[in-house]
Amino acid sequence: MLRTVSCSASLTSASPFFRQFRLSYSSLSPSTSSALRVPGRNLRRVSSPPSAGRRVFLRRGLRVPSAADRGVNRQLSRLSVRAVATQPAPSYPDVGQDEAEKLGFEKVSEEFISECKSKATLFRHKKTGCEVMSVSNEDENKVFGIVLRTPPKDSTGIPHILEHSVLCGSRKYPLKEPFVELLKGSLHTFLNAFTYPDRTCYPVASTNTKDFYNLVDVYLDAVFFPKCVDDVHTFQQEGWHYELNDPSEDISYKGVVFNEMKGVYSQPDNILGRIAQQAISPDNTYGVDSGGDPKDIPKLTFEEFKDFHRKYYHPSNARIWFYGDDDPLQRLHILSEYLDMFEASPSRDTSKIEPQKLFSAPIRIVEKYPAGRDGDLKKKNMVCINWLLSEKPLDLETQLALGFLDHLMLGTPASPLRKILLESGLGEALVSSGMSDELLQPQFSVGMKGVSEDNVQKVEELIIATLQKLAEEGFENEAVEASMNTIEFSLRENNTGSFPRGLSLMLQSIAKWIYDMDPFEPLKYTEPLKALKARIAEEGSKAVFSPVIEQFILNNSHRVTIEMQPDPEKASQEEAEEKSILEKVKAGMTEEDLAELARATEELRLKQETPDPPEALRCVPSLNLSDIPKEPTYVPTEVGDINGVKVLRHDLFTNDIVYAEVVFDTGSLKHELLPLVPLFCQSLMEMGTKDLSFVQLNQMIGRKTGGISVYPLTSSVRGKDEPCSKIIVRGKSMAGRAEDLFNLMNCLLQEVQFTDQPRFKQFVSQSIARMENRLRGSGHGVAAARMDAMLNIAGWMSEQMGGLSYLEFLRTLEKKVDEDWEGISSSLEEIRRSLLAKNGCIVNMTADGKSLTNIEKSLEKFLDLLPENPSGGLVTWDGRLPLRNEAIVIPTQVNYVGKAGNIYSTGYELDGSAYVISKHISTTWLWDRVRVSGGAYGGFCDFDSHSGVFSFLSYRDPNLLKTLDIYDGTGDFLRGLDMDQETLTKAIIGTIGDVDSYQLPDAKGYSSLMRHLLGVTDEERQRKREEILTTSLKDFKDFAEAIDVVRDKGVSVAVASAEDIDAANNARSNFFEVKKAL
Ligand SMILES: [Zn+2]
Repeated sequence: MLRTVSCSASLTSASPFFRQFRLSYSSLSPSTSSALRVPGRNLRRVSSPPSAGRRVFLRRGLRVPSAADRGVNRQLSRLSVRAVATQPAPSYPDVGQDEAEKLGFEKVSEEFISECKSKATLFRHKKTGCEVMSVSNEDENKVFGIVLRTPPKDSTGIPHILEHSVLCGSRKYPLKEPFVELLKGSLHTFLNAFTYPDRTCYPVASTNTKDFYNLVDVYLDAVFFPKCVDDVHTFQQEGWHYELNDPSEDISYKGVVFNEMKGVYSQPDNILGRIAQQAISPDNTYGVDSGGDPKDIPKLTFEEFKDFHRKYYHPSNARIWFYGDDDPLQRLHILSEYLDMFEASPSRDTSKIEPQKLFSAPIRIVEKYPAGRDGDLKKKNMVCINWLLSEKPLDLETQLALGFLDHLMLGTPASPLRKILLESGLGEALVSSGMSDELLQPQFSVGMKGVSEDNVQKVEELIIATLQKLAEEGFENEAVEASMNTIEFSLRENNTGSFPRGLSLMLQSIAKWIYDMDPFEPLKYTEPLKALKARIAEEGSKAVFSPVIEQFILNNSHRVTIEMQPDPEKASQEEAEEKSILEKVKAGMTEEDLAELARATEELRLKQETPDPPEALRCVPSLNLSDIPKEPTYVPTEVGDINGVKVLRHDLFTNDIVYAEVVFDTGSLKHELLPLVPLFCQSLMEMGTKDLSFVQLNQMIGRKTGGISVYPLTSSVRGKDEPCSKIIVRGKSMAGRAEDLFNLMNCLLQEVQFTDQPRFKQFVSQSIARMENRLRGSGHGVAAARMDAMLNIAGWMSEQMGGLSYLEFLRTLEKKVDEDWEGISSSLEEIRRSLLAKNGCIVNMTADGKSLTNIEKSLEKFLDLLPENPSGGLVTWDGRLPLRNEAIVIPTQVNYVGKAGNIYSTGYELDGSAYVISKHISTTWLWDRVRVSGGAYGGFCDFDSHSGVFSFLSYRDPNLLKTLDIYDGTGDFLRGLDMDQETLTKAIIGTIGDVDSYQLPDAKGYSSLMRHLLGVTDEERQRKREEILTTSLKDFKDFAEAIDVVRDKGVSVAVASAEDIDAANNARSNFFEVKKAL
């Protein structure tokens, strides 16, 4: 689901609510490709399984991009900093010992870190012991973070609920949610909070110094002086409470975290990950769920909650990170004001995490997970083997060797462990696989899902046998070289996508610092990497890796095997259990109790729905319109021509890397071939040529480039009937290797043979597994795609390649692969012929001017090899799904509810104010009603300025019809809106913050390409910006008329449980057509 709120930002960012749900597993920059519909993006070359150890909760659903998300560099998270040759240290403003002393700090140590061209100083606040890492460099994207060690003792979710709650008002900022005010009205480039199994992080980032310090102050006040410890209402709202609207009705549980976690516990992959973590470390804090188990959350009391804050949210237990180009002395000034208010506390000792002692024998666990009734349940088992690698911390070189080994075994489709498991046909896809070193002790997991009962044991045996084989035989030299190049490239590029670099560094540093280890060490990888490389060169890779596999994995008895079996009864059983508990609660109440509960429910709702008074809102610092640049950021773009092909060049500093996109048009593609396109893209990357196996081809890509990916992209174009529909080949390499890059692109496009039936069959079953996972985890995206497919052609195309229609297509195709492989193979060939052509091709290149000139020859050669015209005549796209309200049934405890309509159909003409208004609707009306009082984890709207489709969506939502009613009330909300100038200014600034989102150079070049494809000119961006800046209250009221079309003529699609759909259809005479999906 990849639409966008704003035209210029459209290409890289969207409303903050959207950022949370769209993360791609690209081997290229994840930030950029996501803005338009790119259904095939999850088919890129490196598809990364979630790591078993990762269990991080966020205030808004944005996941922390793990190394896995950052693509190729899967588990070397700690390495992701820029590799730069040692240079003389530039001079950054320094804080003298005296100045530090005056503010109550002492300098503990100080270093210049060449890897990130930064001067880093560790300070200690003398009175409390609070530690501060102050990192100075030239990066304008400044980052602040405060991290507390918060080990839970049970699974009631205290750390998670507290993480949500402290941002709901504080001493200096006594309003309902300062967090939301910052979301609305700041220029933040990052704003969120994370709960890990053992720590809680509060990071913010901004490129504007004034804005940055505003954010820092709100966060510091929130952490140390939150209102939630005196206000039970926040605990009830974010954690849990009984809801009773009328004494005659049933009692239910409500709470944002409660429903967020119900969503988590509806996803089999997540359940497996949590069971694995708890089973592998049963004796310390990792044996419980810091996020909260929905069964345990209602056991939490307000007293325990307050006590946890008092105990752990203290400077003595805090580690603070500052990063960027601001004044380091100012940082200490800000901190001393807060820290000086505290005396030392023993919390640093009481929060210590004890290591798990290693087991003397392996264990095995069998568990059930909630499954749907459809499909062959016998084939839906999951199995996963997990190892805790060590009791004591490992030295840096061993950690590097483990990370390297992980990439060698699992990093690409050609990696042996991944390849052997997938080719075995024993399961559909890998699950929970990889090294993880984010917690105290590193662990390694590998497993499969979609396994039939009889094959569970075979999977276990194959995993062990393959590891033994790898230990005995070692890895091919080409594979080692490819991994080494991939890792080094990724270090040099340091492409963190839309995630600030300073935050990525903070998370690496904190992964050791939080355990009282050296915070500098994780940032300095050059020497240990050199040493490891030298050892591989001298002794051979086998001498390095075989002992590692043997010691840490094969001969390690701390092994936990987990088997998960599907249980179609489990979801309804859990629902029944909850119901019976609530019935008992009700039965135990007197009439007065019930009346009191109904009164309390009403009181909470009233409080939630009452807006903050203007004086309270005013206390949250914000910028003025005069602080905002009047012009959008322009990307240097030169449009030229090589042999009849349009070439866009962006002259930007890229640290000697070339980024290239080759775009082909789908104008000659036959309709019926459309759903095959994602698999066509995957086949190009993973089938091999006449001379090269796919393994060799992938190794070559790894050795010579920074990665290549192929994916489709579709979008509506404003004012046109025909959609924009393309296939993009995206690659990057060092400038000196551009020729290799284009040769390899040519090889993939022209020479790959579609002959490997068994591999194609794997692609199909992997895609099915991925789509099924998407239905459970991102049902709002599936619902949005479905509505879009009813409302416009681009949406229909996109849904054919990534929505429910695609899943249905895949299920049919799975059978067809055996019956008619010839037919499929020639269809793939036909797709190739209809795309590959100079005619309709566009090339986009981003690098410095000199490199752009140097690579021209290789590009010319590449283009000369393309046929002049595509085969087949032009086709007209005109597909749409029939307009109807649909409910898609899946086994879940929480729903995804959507409603959408096209506002251009009312004659509405796009004005920049639409971005301000839709953001405002998301952060006020929907946030307050759907999330705060409705109890859903997320509720937001999205406006696609290209198609005119305005959609409302909810995420992990306990309600269904009630949410639709809230959507329908939006027009009246706008009509009744009363807004002072300050609130309006805030809304405008927040929108500009989205539009101007921070971009790394590759993202700038890519955004420019997208604008070119969609016909968005710089003049139009300037005009839209002016319209944004001059948005008035009248614009809000006028917009109400346009948005009423969603209420009156819109379509609704929900992805929900059978029970809730039945109830909705009973209440509103068969409102939904029901469709079974899982
Ligand atoms: Zn959360």
